[in-house]
Amino acid sequence: MKVATAERTVPLLRRDFAALRGDFPALRQLVHGKPLAYLDNAASSQTPGPVLDAIAQQQGLNHSNVHRGVHQLSERSTAAFEGAREKIRRFINARSSAEIVFTRGTTESINLVAASFGQRLVPGDEVLITALEHHSNIVPWQLLCERTGARLVVARIEDDGSLDVADFDERLNERTKIVALAHVSNALGTVNPVATLVAKAHAVGAVVLVDGAQAVPHLRVDVQALGCDFYAFSSHKMFGPTGAGVLYGRRELLETMPPYQGGGDMILTVSFERSTYNALPYKFEAGTPNIAGVVGLGAAVDYLETIDFGALAAHEHTLLEHATRRLMTEIAGVRLIGTAPEKASVLSFVVDGIHAHDLGTIVDSEGVAIRTGHHCAMPVMDRFGVAATARASFALYNNDDDVERLMAGLKKAVEIFRG
Ligand code: PMP
Repeated sequence: MKVATAERTVPLLRRDFAALRGDFPALRQLVHGKPLAYLDNAASSQTPGPVLDAIAQQQGLNHSNVHRGVHQLSERSTAAFEGAREKIRRFINARSSAEIVFTRGTTESINLVAASFGQRLVPGDEVLITALEHHSNIVPWQLLCERTGARLVVARIEDDGSLDVADFDERLNERTKIVALAHVSNALGTVNPVATLVAKAHAVGAVVLVDGAQAVPHLRVDVQALGCDFYAFSSHKMFGPTGAGVLYGRRELLETMPPYQGGGDMILTVSFERSTYNALPYKFEAGTPNIAGVVGLGAAVDYLETIDFGALAAHEHTLLEHATRRLMTEIAGVRLIGTAPEKASVLSFVVDGIHAHDLGTIVDSEGVAIRTGHHCAMPVMDRFGVAATARASFALYNNDDDVERLMAGLKKAVEIFRG
């Protein structure tokens, strides 16, 4: 249903999360003979029907290359691909679609910035990250520091998994050229006070990259309000397909950055002596992109635009509180990993005497999908003195029944291991 506003036509906002569940075909299947309770959304979220339809239409009917053909199919593909760029611009409130670069995902977006913007770093410069980062927001900076002689500096986190802001402040100085931090931690759920940290970083002249992989499916992201220079995220965690993602970059910065990869589409002219580069954002999009993936991502943004994010935050918060309370009262020997006051959608825990992997395997046999392991955040595991955690992570379609099923699965594991 659509309503006309003075500015644009927007879909009516949906607050009934129970009804949304029907949009996701994967949630209707049986796993090990039991209805699926999908609680691994921080790794990858499920895909709703309208996104599947958009991918099928692009791949099945429009399939052809973008930006190159004069024929109907290529024009349709280009319109769908560039239409997705505009949808994303609006979704994150970027000033211009020239600031939206398509990548394979968060990992590639961060590597692009490290490889391209990072070229200007020299020995003595510093890159400041936090102790709650995913490996994708650690290793590209380590590689950059190895290449340039810059130093990687890490701000500590508190025992509850929030950033130690005093430590961040101490480590931030005029040598800091890049600050890279997660908006929301995938291992702990901590939400960082991004706008405040950006302001502090800018005050010393550093640029800020925000890893938004875990934020976009849960929070309304406004890159101008955050004030960040770069913002990276992945389609597959926001109800779109795998293999597509976004780097938002402030235009003034992107203009000054050298290309990341060379190839078709990123050039204006090529001769053996010298090539000239295309305008933004194409300068950073070498080769044929993941067209159906990007179109699917655009459809996922359309889907998210129908959601009331205030109601979504309340819905996920209620689920998280409910699951946390039940876990702590009904299972003996549970330790929560990550108890920050500002926390989104992630319940990470260990159970005395039962390996996380065993917990995951037993709940899976009951049709409950959770994640177990280090969650690509080994330094976070080290910080809390554990090798692995079990992690249940919620999305808009989860409900109390999923929590009930998780609890039943965990109780079964306890019974098996403790007798
Ligand atoms: N950062 C965070 C916080 C993540 O949760 C993830 C995915 N687990 C990534 C980066 C990497 O995303 P991708 O694998 O889609 O590139």
